[in-house]
Amino acid sequence: MSTDWKLPWKAHCRCGAVEMTVSAPPLLTMACHCRGCQRMSASAYSCSMAVPQDGFAVDGPARDKRQSEDNDGYTHNFCPQCHSWIFTEFPAEMGFINLRATMLDDPSWFAPFVETQTTEKLAFAETGAPISYERFPEMGDYPGLIQRFSEEGAKPA
Ligand SMILES: [Zn+2]
Ligand SMILES: [Zn+2]
Repeated sequence: MSTDWKLPWKAHCRCGAVEMTVSAPPLLTMACHCRGCQRMSASAYSCSMAVPQDGFAVDGPARDKRQSEDNDGYTHNFCPQCHSWIFTEFPAEMGFINLRATMLDDPSWFAPFVETQTTEKLAFAETGAPISYERFPEMGDYPGLIQRFSEEGAKPA
């Protein structure tokens, strides 16, 4: 399989006020069926990709940041104008952010490799992800998931 990710990628919120650049390959792509993602995305599940912190840049304006309602130390970032839910930050030592995949200028190739929180999924919702978790993966699962994704995950055509 090709290892050419065709980087960098441009991304933006719905109104275009917040522009982003991805310059490193994603570590993993995900669909999350949790009730929080359902509400924030107004959809059956959110689509995200974990991007290394040093491979992600944001151009103004200042984002509207809000701590996660789950009290988990996560920070959700929104466009202050159109209020798109654009990405989620984690404690710095984790080293990556979760970009909502639908912000990409070209999300057409995106496919979730892992789906999470299937215990909360809507009856009709199917993602095609090859790996499913009823909740979230254990921390120890991530190195293997990242390795498999790098070999088998969808890439830009
Ligand atoms: Zn916007
Ligand atoms: Zn979720």
